[in-house]
Amino acid sequence: NQSAKPPPIPSPLRFSKFFQTNMRILVTGGAGFIGSHLVDKLMENEKNEVIVADNYFTGSKDNIRKWIGHPRFELIRHDVTETLLVEVDQIYHLACPASPIFYKYNPVKTIKTNVIGTLNMLGLAKRVGARILLTSTSEVYGDPLVHPQEESYCGNVNPIGVRSCYDEGKRVAETLMFDYHRQHGVEIRIARIFNTYGPRMNIDDGRVVSNFIAQAIRGEALTVQSPGTQTRSFCYVSDMVDGLMRLMEGDNTGPINIGNPGEFTMLELAENVKELINPDVKISMVENTPDDPRQRKPNITKAKELLGWEPKIKLRDGLPLMEEDFRSRLGVPSKK
Ligand code: NAD
Ligand code: UDP
Ligand code: UDP
Repeated sequence: NQSAKPPPIPSPLRFSKFFQTNMRILVTGGAGFIGSHLVDKLMENEKNEVIVADNYFTGSKDNIRKWIGHPRFELIRHDVTETLLVEVDQIYHLACPASPIFYKYNPVKTIKTNVIGTLNMLGLAKRVGARILLTSTSEVYGDPLVHPQEESYCGNVNPIGVRSCYDEGKRVAETLMFDYHRQHGVEIRIARIFNTYGPRMNIDDGRVVSNFIAQAIRGEALTVQSPGTQTRSFCYVSDMVDGLMRLMEGDNTGPINIGNPGEFTMLELAENVKELINPDVKISMVENTPDDPRQRKPNITKAKELLGWEPKIKLRDGLPLMEEDFRSRLGVPSKK
């Protein structure tokens, strides 16, 4: 009887769907700043098993130490430029240095991480039928000629500059994501993350918020890179994690901007840090680095409409939350 075909057998590798077991989630770069906060949130759900793969280039075991030994948690020292064989349902692919001084330190490794690393995670997603989310970046817009930036803007990026290993690397990673989606049917999600800050940022990673807060706590001058009128928009890390999880769980591939539209010049940021953390510090103007984008602010209409997401924490509320963590790591007690 031709019509009595057995029902299709789901891929045995899609464990959670077939066996009704826990959701198994891989977080690459999970020992890093955003990754470790994401892991904390994922671990709150008792149905989630979390596997972190990280090579500790810019991340640290300290960020996820509290989960080591937990029965639903696993940590693998692994470089995503190498093949990874695991069976998972979802992949949050964050592995990549995010701070300019780190990604410029070994640009060839940075572009390999973006291109080969993303290719490997897509090969993995294809093999096991997992959904994969890429943390892309506002840097794909380069030094933008459109302001604020919306997802349809194709960007103004220098292909041969010192930032290209990162921004062109992420652009290729987005291309790979869409090609695996169209050609192999891989379920993809792309977040374009704008500047994010919060506890566990590397203290000396050279990013502006971590620099200013560490300088203010140490009583050193805040180093504003000239001209100081360049702008950024800063998102607190808990808002970011919420946006990433909504994107993963929703039906839209993206790319979707996730960031806080509150826009500040670097001089305004310095003045806020000075006022909130140490009114005695000076602000000094120092030389800038090449290709520094002059302005950056997300249009988050898509995130609002498609994910029901918008950031909740204002810069002036987020900076003090970060200060406590920096004080304890720098060993400088609060003056209060
Ligand atoms: P981070 O440097 O703290 O974390 C990155 C993690 O990836 C680290 O734990 C690092 O050790 C790991 N890693 C780097 N290369 C690796 C490799 N080859 N194999 C395995 N692990 C590797 O940075 P973050 O701020 O947490 O950023 C996380 C992601 O978000 C990155 O993909 C970054 O590009 C993206 N993003 C961040 C921001 C931001 O403002 N923080 C902005 C835009 C995009
Ligand atoms: N890959 C991986 N884990 C897997 C499956 C694939 O790391 O579980 C890597 C694999 O090493 C390959 C890449 O993903 O280099 C792309 O895999 P794909 O199957 O798409 O391409 P192919 O292996 O045919 O080049
Ligand atoms: N910046 C600054 N002082 C610093 C570090 C950075 O004024 O000590 C400026 C930098 O010139 C840039 C902005 O802050 O305009 C954001 O730099 P960051 O490295 O944090 O992030 P990205 O350039 O990747 O947005």
